[in-house]
Amino acid sequence: MIVELVTIGNELLTGHTIDTNSAWMAERLNLSGIQVSRITSVSDSRKSILGILKETEARADIVILTGGLGPTSDDITKPALCEFFNTHLVFNKEVFNHIENLLYNKRCKLNEHNIKQAEVPESAIILHNDEGTAAGLWFEKNKKIFISLPGVPFEMKGLITKKVIPALKKAFSFPSIHTRMVITQGSYEAHLAEELKDFESSLPSNISLAYLPSPGIIRLRLTARGTDAKKLADEIEMQILKIREIIPEYVAGFDEDTLETVIGDLLTERRQTLSAAESCTGGTIASMITAVPGSSSYFKGGIVAYSNEIKKDQLAIEPSLIDKYGAVSKPVVEDMAINCRLLFNTGYSIAVSGIAGPSGGTDKKPVGTVWIAVSCQASTVSSEFRFGDNRERNIKRASVTALNMLRKMILSNDG
Ligand code: AMP
Ligand code: MG
Repeated sequence: MIVELVTIGNELLTGHTIDTNSAWMAERLNLSGIQVSRITSVSDSRKSILGILKETEARADIVILTGGLGPTSDDITKPALCEFFNTHLVFNKEVFNHIENLLYNKRCKLNEHNIKQAEVPESAIILHNDEGTAAGLWFEKNKKIFISLPGVPFEMKGLITKKVIPALKKAFSFPSIHTRMVITQGSYEAHLAEELKDFESSLPSNISLAYLPSPGIIRLRLTARGTDAKKLADEIEMQILKIREIIPEYVAGFDEDTLETVIGDLLTERRQTLSAAESCTGGTIASMITAVPGSSSYFKGGIVAYSNEIKKDQLAIEPSLIDKYGAVSKPVVEDMAINCRLLFNTGYSIAVSGIAGPSGGTDKKPVGTVWIAVSCQASTVSSEFRFGDNRERNIKRASVTALNMLRKMILSNDG
């Protein structure tokens, strides 16, 4: 079964909009056992749309398109589909009623553009779009299926989950796919690949391992394909246990976990509290922590101590320490953590001081040098890191590294 995705939109080709639709669809389809073999983006032009329809018709069994179903003049997917399928637009009362309802609920007036959206190709099966005004369209031609969906991501997502995947699963039998993710922190791709070399080569042929790196975090995705869903889940669980045995020091979570959710759970379970004193991360750590619902029960607050003045005045860092060792140093970051913990009266604290770049580096402390400390009443632990020369990545890597140091400290306190 060959499945292709086509995203339509001038904005995708100029780079003004990132084509997130195809990535999302590919992931969702894959999870349902529907493998995508090609993704193409084309412009909102009759020639491009007809061209890709012809091309995919020759190659694929199922084609899913997004974009160009809107009410404005640049949206021309519907007439192009009519031309390709040799059909014409007809007014659809059900779609019209739905549009009218949606607009009424949003207190918007119906206009001729909206009425145009109730016109659909006569030969298409309508996929009703609960979230918006553009209906999804399902065509069949020479035993091939073409599905056209709106480009607005949340509308497309609703249609894919509620209509497209269930209908495709009903029409065809796809293999079962089971995926699990291991979240690692503190290593790098080449190192993990070396550590997991034997593990990878011993994997059964129906299970594959993929490395998904992002700044500071590498996700290891295990995918199992087969027919028995329960068996696949058990097989993957066994492989995850093996990974945990081989690289226990790097495994920070699983599946949808992020370091901030893992820490949130750990602190909540232990009824502990946290504060953060951030220099080079400028509040990123506080922002990551507070993005988690429920964080108010464990995160008391933080201070962005960006200048030395604030480090001295607000965090009571001894000026002589900064003079002697510099703000990016072990004694300063440890005192930042300790004083922050006392100031905010929390069980744990995090402190970060570093040179995010691109300027500010010296021979001794080049750009990317970051000191991180985590503190609790029993101990304060700090480490020096040399990340890299990209400011954005340094901030992200410093933040996730700090969170992982905190995770390890909380767990080590369990004894
Ligand atoms: P359209 O259905 O072409 O009118 O698209 C409506 C809006 O959805 C556009 O303005 C884009 O912001 C967004 N959009 C369209 N296609 C994509 C895509 N492939 N990925 C992400 N967003 C998209
Ligand atoms: Mg468009």
